[in-house]
Amino acid sequence: MIIHLKAEVTKEKAEQLGAELESIVLQREGFFALISSSKGKSIDEKYNQFIVERFPFEDDMQLASKKYINGVREIKITDSISIGGNNKNTLMITGPCSVESEEQIEQCAALCVELGVKVLRAGAYKPRTTPYAFQGMGLAGLKLLDKMRTKHGLKIITEIRDSTHVNEIIEYADILQIGAKAMYDHGILKACGKSGKPVLLKRGFGATLQEFVQAAEFILSGGNDKVILCERGIRTFETKTRFTLDLCGVAYLKQYTNLPIILDPSHAIGFAYGVADLSKACVAMGVDGLLIETHPNPAVAKSDAAQQLNFKQFRELYAELGAVANAVGRTMI
Ligand code: PEP
Ligand code: MN
Repeated sequence: MIIHLKAEVTKEKAEQLGAELESIVLQREGFFALISSSKGKSIDEKYNQFIVERFPFEDDMQLASKKYINGVREIKITDSISIGGNNKNTLMITGPCSVESEEQIEQCAALCVELGVKVLRAGAYKPRTTPYAFQGMGLAGLKLLDKMRTKHGLKIITEIRDSTHVNEIIEYADILQIGAKAMYDHGILKACGKSGKPVLLKRGFGATLQEFVQAAEFILSGGNDKVILCERGIRTFETKTRFTLDLCGVAYLKQYTNLPIILDPSHAIGFAYGVADLSKACVAMGVDGLLIETHPNPAVAKSDAAQQLNFKQFRELYAELGAVANAVGRTMI
């Protein structure tokens, strides 16, 4: 159950009520809310004096549901960059799969600056399928991303691979990425719930839509309103492409959840040849953003070499996407 408390209820009082009603206390804009994990628990009338509204709907999603907020939550990355809400922005996020060197990430940052892309993405801790492949530069990579932020005024998104570096990423990133393989990690979900920073939660490639949204509920119910869903392809019987981009799932998420949605065509198809076509299809669906992998020289990339666009390919694609966004009443930012 979700309980909205009256605006005059102080933090101390909300915490006292939270303890009495065995509920988590969430700070919302201008008021506190209580999240009780026992669904139908009846609440004594004496509490009515503190309560404005109760949301006792039966559903596998609660805070993420359109029954709770009938619209799309606005998520401010900075005062001037926001997605969701009524602004109809489609945010471009690009960068290499992994930070590999200062020279490489500097080139990627320069591409963002040249095109006006505001968010640079790269992994420092990589969740690789094999222990024998490049695992990422770790803290040194995070520091390089931080340097790009200071030098170029870019916002940084990078992923949390496991519990060993959650706090480091929370400290360095503007948007925390939870990767497909980490979607079920409750330690990471809960740490992100407390972080206060925007979180891009990728769908596990074997996760149902229900499991995906429920993972988001762990972050939301932990106190963080700023959750962005990311569809990045699911595993099907098909082997010619790396994964299958689930656009039906995206339609479902748009219909039933109140969370902004970013699509990742790069990981979905796994090959650069299809990224442009898929990107246009994604933008035409009216989503809140795209995540596209780019590399100065994809052939020598240390991870995900086959799917990264070179800069020429990205420039051409980016020049076309604005018109697609406009056609569906959106603006590429
Ligand atoms: C990535 O974004 O580089 C990545 C590893 O993605 P995913 O978690 O979707 O596999
Ligand atoms: Mn990648």
